[in-house]
Amino acid sequence: MTKFNTINLNELKSYFKNVVYLDIETSGLNASLYGNKSKSEILEIGAIKFTDGTPSVFHTFIRPKFGIPETIFDLCEDLNAEDLNNGIDISEALFKLSNFLEDLPLICHKGKFQHAFLTSYYREHSLNFKNEILDTMELFALLEPYHKEFNLDYFIKQKLSGSLNYEKNRALEDAKDTILVLNQVLENNNITIFLNDYSINLLNWNWLSYLTNYSTHVETEKIFKGSMPISSINMKTERKKIGNLKLIKECEESLKDIELWKEISPNYIFRKAQYEVTKNVRKSINQKAFSIMEAPTGTGKSVAYLLPSIYSALHGERVFISTNTKELQNQLVSKDIPNLLNAFNLNNKLDYKVIKGKNNYICPEVLDDLLKHSLSNQLPDRLGLVYLHRYASNGKFGDIEDINQWVVDNFNLKPVVTLCNAGNDGCDINSCSRLCFYKESIEALDDTNLIILNHALLLRWPYKQEIKNVILDEAHNLRDLLFEVYAERISSLDIIKLLDEIVSKDGQGALVYVWRSLKNKENSSIDKIREYISSAKASIDAIGKVSKENMNLLYNLDISFNKDFANYSKVLTAMKILIEDLNLVYRPLKKLIDYNNLDDENSKNKKGIILVKKCDKLKAIIDFLNSFIMPEEEFKCNGFVCNKDSFFWEAYIKDLNPANYFCDRFLKTLDSCVFLSATLKTSGKYEDLKKALAINSVEDKQTIEITDIDNTFDLKKRAIICATNDNISYDSSNFISYLVENILKLTSIVPGNILVLFTSKNRQENFKNLILPELNKRHIRLYENKKDVVHLKDRSKKSVLIGSKGFFEGIDVAGDGLNCVVLEKLPNISPTDPLFKKLISKQKVDYAYGEINEPRVLTSFKQCFGRLIRTEYDFGYFLVMDGGTNSRIWSKIGKEYPGVRLYHSSIDSIIKSMPNNYKSWESMNFDKLILETKEQLATELKKVNFKDYKILEDTLNDFYKTKFKEKKLTKSINLYIENKSINAYHESDNSQAYLKNKNILFSVLKSLI
Ligand code: SF4
Repeated sequence: MTKFNTINLNELKSYFKNVVYLDIETSGLNASLYGNKSKSEILEIGAIKFTDGTPSVFHTFIRPKFGIPETIFDLCEDLNAEDLNNGIDISEALFKLSNFLEDLPLICHKGKFQHAFLTSYYREHSLNFKNEILDTMELFALLEPYHKEFNLDYFIKQKLSGSLNYEKNRALEDAKDTILVLNQVLENNNITIFLNDYSINLLNWNWLSYLTNYSTHVETEKIFKGSMPISSINMKTERKKIGNLKLIKECEESLKDIELWKEISPNYIFRKAQYEVTKNVRKSINQKAFSIMEAPTGTGKSVAYLLPSIYSALHGERVFISTNTKELQNQLVSKDIPNLLNAFNLNNKLDYKVIKGKNNYICPEVLDDLLKHSLSNQLPDRLGLVYLHRYASNGKFGDIEDINQWVVDNFNLKPVVTLCNAGNDGCDINSCSRLCFYKESIEALDDTNLIILNHALLLRWPYKQEIKNVILDEAHNLRDLLFEVYAERISSLDIIKLLDEIVSKDGQGALVYVWRSLKNKENSSIDKIREYISSAKASIDAIGKVSKENMNLLYNLDISFNKDFANYSKVLTAMKILIEDLNLVYRPLKKLIDYNNLDDENSKNKKGIILVKKCDKLKAIIDFLNSFIMPEEEFKCNGFVCNKDSFFWEAYIKDLNPANYFCDRFLKTLDSCVFLSATLKTSGKYEDLKKALAINSVEDKQTIEITDIDNTFDLKKRAIICATNDNISYDSSNFISYLVENILKLTSIVPGNILVLFTSKNRQENFKNLILPELNKRHIRLYENKKDVVHLKDRSKKSVLIGSKGFFEGIDVAGDGLNCVVLEKLPNISPTDPLFKKLISKQKVDYAYGEINEPRVLTSFKQCFGRLIRTEYDFGYFLVMDGGTNSRIWSKIGKEYPGVRLYHSSIDSIIKSMPNNYKSWESMNFDKLILETKEQLATELKKVNFKDYKILEDTLNDFYKTKFKEKKLTKSINLYIENKSINAYHESDNSQAYLKNKNILFSVLKSLI
């Protein structure tokens, strides 16, 4: 019996006298059979019952019928297969549980999850699950909405400070922790005020009567602790040691202060490449120039551009740092910038801000209105409003992306958030006096010299602060992003949203708000407009329906097509009907606005102004649809997207040459701009990038092109690129089984973990379903979330991580944990995509597809390859499972990696060659480590009594274990010694100590003695 089966009941008190606190552990997330996913099993149940305040306990293991996924043992501390196999049968467990629970209410964390499993399993065993479930996760979200996470582990860390009891994920322990955390949350919040503020919106919520009882009987009795004002919330953060580095104008010089850097970051090494990038970013800002730099993986480019940016920002120059991904933005703001400010002792000396588009912030003013007037009968909607109001009303929080995904789903927040974001047409921060996070963030920009944002916002910058200095990280994404950012597009959702904002089904909307104050209604009727709106909505759905008629939508969720596709003409016909419907809505609205002078610039009627803006938007949509149905212009691409699972559609018109626009509207207005990425060159040059972004069109601007930043790592010695030529194509029916079969082989050959990258989500899903049972049999873990990348660092448990395009970037595993990356096929563009098709048709060269495809494939390939080698100690195979037949692209790939071994062969012979290579890479690491640590080792060995070789061997082991850890290598030194037959031994006659078969160590020892 493990320690998690016993609980000290004396330490527990519950504010609710007759309830059961319950938790279950399961083998997965599927409470019922869904599609081809199998049902997960309940493995452990723990419950603590209070009867008139007196606790008793229920605990059981349940014998699994099917295989246990290995990942369960990562999640549940001390859970083992033996305990589970000795467990009772599920039917017996449910029978006993049912008797224990009686008809008492259950308090569970993540109650819907527990409810889904219990109802499903009760039903399967002819039992009726009828207990009410009160979800603490829901309660915590409403009482303390500012948290970014709401899982139990997180709350244990936050609330039970000093407790080591977190991340155990054991049923009984979690039931106990639910009690302790709930008590803390109740005590930290003023429940009486909460109930007074939101009583109407909380109607029918099952916690309501329990909280009312608590507030009347308990809260008034205890010494009232009061609620913690949200404005004073400070999350626990670790404080780091302040560094002694000095930031001077030639900031790259500070990178040479190795000892000072090591005080902050013990693994710091001086990298010439990082020095060069820092110097050139500084030059670019100082000399008001452009610069283009491909900084290979491992350069440390974030620090490289942050140093000169921070220096410039401190000296009055505003710098914008733009990234493509949210992950990098988060990394800069939550890690890199604070760490650097700390290292240079600049904390509190520089303000930096992340800024997003208007739509990303909650508007508390609209929210106040919605809370008062919401007519929704749906409980989740009303709770969602309460959540948002508590989250955003005091101006301390308001970033929509910071809202936890579980909260978004549980309270059905998406529709509300589209109504109450700052992007609504009534927001004018100059005239609004409401406390608001968005307004505070925008106003703070005036005093902020370091601004972090994403490329899309940067290219459409809507705020007044001038953009003069820009660092564009992940700049390789700009090539295709320009087409998207500068496209005109309308989706079915955009139109429905706008129509709802005018008059929604549940009686809200701009027209409804303004209607009562209108003096002149001139025969208009809201009901008539509502009728036109519903007919327009029906036409929107009709377009979605005809667009996918007779279409094979098996593989992708969204399909993009143009006039060459049969359904296109049907779409245009349906679109004409929609245009007419929208005109029927527009005309009476416009009349109302004109009769009542709502668009008078001096109008004080704020609600009227909102209606005017909505009406203008409607006109813009009608104009766009009218231009969409016209014949396609020569340098434009008209395309249409439909969706496999819904009537969603989108129509777009893309400019074939967005770079000109980018250049005129953006580049030409800048003083300095740095284009940075690990993948910017093609065939060693930036010509292709310069052309794609029209960089050369900026006259009189110095452009610094740095083409010789050396790869920090010795790729020639440490990586092999190979592609299979097994004559099996990725689109053949047995490709997935071929992939599964060979990945399974690799798991027994590759010494570390494996990353498998897919270019199609569908193939990824099929692969997962086929390989999962096999991996379970072999006790190998399969992961598919980005956050699970941490498991790839650990070589003591074998893991396979799978992912698609989002995993081509941002998977960083330093050390020898990940040493095989598999790409299912080359990431070629689709020649049927309307944009690429049109771009290809405009090429005046023989190999037009290649002209458009190759730079994109090379960029994606290099991004994928970048996952393999992250430190000077990394090594491994980059394997493309369907290498294809395009020798031209392979020759270009070869040129990107001069000296790196690259070949095509059968998968069998590739696999056969692996063991020797892995062995030699591991030896190489060992040798490298010995060389690097020779002096330290000598000092260490001087302390050793050589007369006992065992002591010598242990000393070596201890020494190298520490060194391995520092280098993020996970293989044990003992294994290295074993593999290399290294034995320390002592020759008694001359008191010498030797290490057999290892010359370097031998000589180290010799020179010591
Ligand atoms: S400033 Fe804009 S977003 Fe903020 S409360 Fe006022 S209207 Fe809403």
